[in-house]
Amino acid sequence: MLKEVQVTKTYLPDKKEYLKYVDKIWESGWLTNNGALSMELENQLKKKLKVSYLKFVSSGTTALQLAIHALELTGEIITTPYSYVATTSAILWQNCKPVFVDIETDSFNIDVSLIEEKITSETSAILATHVYGIPCAVEKIELLAKKHNLKVIYDAAHCFGVEVDGKSIFEFGDTSICSFHSTKIFHTIEGGAVISKTEEIDKKIFLNRAFGHIGDIHSMLGINGKNSEFHAAMGLCNLPGIQERISERKKIFENYSKRLEGLPISILELKKNINYNYSYFPVVFKSHKEMTKVKTNLENKKIYPRRYFFPSLNKIDYLEYQSCPRSESIAERVLCLPYYDGLEDSTVKIISETIKNVIQDG
Ligand SMILES: *Cc1c(COP(=O)(O)O)cnc(C)c1O
Repeated sequence: MLKEVQVTKTYLPDKKEYLKYVDKIWESGWLTNNGALSMELENQLKKKLKVSYLKFVSSGTTALQLAIHALELTGEIITTPYSYVATTSAILWQNCKPVFVDIETDSFNIDVSLIEEKITSETSAILATHVYGIPCAVEKIELLAKKHNLKVIYDAAHCFGVEVDGKSIFEFGDTSICSFHSTKIFHTIEGGAVISKTEEIDKKIFLNRAFGHIGDIHSMLGINGKNSEFHAAMGLCNLPGIQERISERKKIFENYSKRLEGLPISILELKKNINYNYSYFPVVFKSHKEMTKVKTNLENKKIYPRRYFFPSLNKIDYLEYQSCPRSESIAERVLCLPYYDGLEDSTVKIISETIKNVIQDG
């Protein structure tokens, strides 16, 4: 029987390591609310990600909502249609309106040259995603934001460990968020973080994530966005080996790239000044039909790539339609191939040959 190959496989650390932390939790009797392990994880993450202000929260989505709230955004937020639904839903959840700006077809990121024409007197911010861990045009976005007095939030859910010219990707924008969901390269089962540029925003996030009060002093509105010691423990187990795992993934990336070389498909173009985390292996096919055929043929072999991202978020039913032809076109043709630590060469070979055969059959 063929074994199933999913698009990703959650990394699980040594169980004994995890249980050592569980023992500590039992000894302390402290399960949540800024426990020792959560504090330790925040400190280690700040070092690893080279940032000053980071708060560990219950998910990447909560992180987005907290960031929008803490920056006091209102009205319209300029955003990308090519992202996971949480990028858009967080804007709606905070009672703001997403205004979509189409993407660049090579980087998959928001096309900065199209932003200015969408700015109105109602615009309060730009919320852009660094898609597949490829940095947005951060400097151009910063200039534009300064010129129009807008805040900038980055959905950096895909970006754990990514650096631009030696600088952490999380240093850009007023805040960035990361997701530590089990499907992400670094995970805490469920979880995420808000990374802020200033202590002022960081303090607000701290309060906003815990009901807006410390003791009897209720200073602002808040929600419960905290995370637990059990989640922090998973993070503390997963963090030490992360760089090694990224190196392993780089090899798989190179293997796929080599095997797919010369085919009329697009794969990620990597730039020299960027340290990638090799989180995803997206392939854009020439037509929707070809993508579907590849997907079906792989599924017949119990290999499950993912249409990621699909749908283009501007086409979601509960939103008024705004046209973004490039994002729509890519969302119709993209597949993320199975990609995880320990993915075998033989599987990469089967996947690559299946793609080749579909393309050659026309
Ligand atoms: C995973 C992801 C999120 C949501 O993060 P959760 O931790 O699952 O809430 C948001 N944006 C992007 C781009 C993501 O990939």
